[in-house]
Amino acid sequence: MAKIYGDEDASLEPLEDKTVAVIGYGSQGKAQAKNLRDSGIDIIIGVREGGPSWERAKKDGFEVLPISEAAEAGDVVHILIPDEVQPQVYREHIHDNMEKGNVLSFSHAYNIHYGLIEPPEYVDVILVAPKGPGHMVRKLYTEGFGTPALVAVHQDYTGEAMDLALAMAKAMGFTRAGVIKTTFREEVETDLFGEQVDLVGGVLYMILYAFETLVEAGYQPEVAYFETLHELKLIVDLIYEKGLSGMLDNVSNTAEYGGLTRGKRIIDKGEMRKVLEEIQSGEFAREWTLENESGRIVMKRLREKIENHEIEKVGERLRKMMGFED
Ligand code: NDP
Ligand code: MG
Repeated sequence: MAKIYGDEDASLEPLEDKTVAVIGYGSQGKAQAKNLRDSGIDIIIGVREGGPSWERAKKDGFEVLPISEAAEAGDVVHILIPDEVQPQVYREHIHDNMEKGNVLSFSHAYNIHYGLIEPPEYVDVILVAPKGPGHMVRKLYTEGFGTPALVAVHQDYTGEAMDLALAMAKAMGFTRAGVIKTTFREEVETDLFGEQVDLVGGVLYMILYAFETLVEAGYQPEVAYFETLHELKLIVDLIYEKGLSGMLDNVSNTAEYGGLTRGKRIIDKGEMRKVLEEIQSGEFAREWTLENESGRIVMKRLREKIENHEIEKVGERLRKMMGFED
């Protein structure tokens, strides 16, 4: 059984005499920084001068510093900029400002796990990773609840790294919803697997190929859109609220029988295992580094294909009709 920490299992005390430098003020940075501040934590923001975040964080009332100065001033340096820019920013602005006993903190284990950031041995390295986008992290906190999250310790120089990670999680409201202890390896490998196989990749191509199959067989695109994309939300909402059996309880018997007998024929678990192996071996991470170095050519090409796809044109029209978009 996973170790799950609640609000009563964590104390804010390890953060009491510390300053947290949140590096980045985007989706997670903005939400996490505001939650920390509202929990009484001493906080500064480190962003690049002249970028859009600089003014935004100032307007929200934070003390804002260039990244290197924030890293120097912070006892905890919590890095919340995009994963693919972290290694360079870390090397140029953060590494030399990490002092003995400082804490380097992340919301994704990617760069540490794949060795793209190599911290000195005299700091703690922790993970505090909400399982939700920034606007939910903030919204649930302001409603008096929180987002579930993962915590892990990669390096424990002070011997107090886990207590500090739990204090961060508590201050951001995560322990109210439940915080699961994990490892850097488990967080990054399950996270990449989830987004590739299920959440982003699996869902996207399932919708796309289902739509294409119907349209190529001569059915009207509008009907195919409703069937393969629009209705997915209703099903996912049911699963989210009531689980898989609860979803089956709420569809017709015909849908239940057809789904249970046909669904598994279209999903290839062997391919899922291969994708997992590419993640575990570091092959995916190497590919993604190269893709970034070569200007994201593959990503742009695939993205263009989606943007120009018939499902997007039909969808735009139908969503306008339904009043979702203006
Ligand atoms: P964002 O893309 O929202 O980060 C934007 C911030 O990064 C801005 O402050 C931006 O500053 C700064 N930034 C971008 N490029 C650079 C650069 N080259 N140099 C310096 N600063 C830069 O990131 P997220 O909040 O989405 O992700 C942050 C971390 O949180 C990642 O590790 C991610 O994996 C993790 N995470 C994200 C989740 C999410 O739902 N988004 C969920 C859970 C974890 P400027 O305004 O100057 O451009
Ligand atoms: Mg994720």
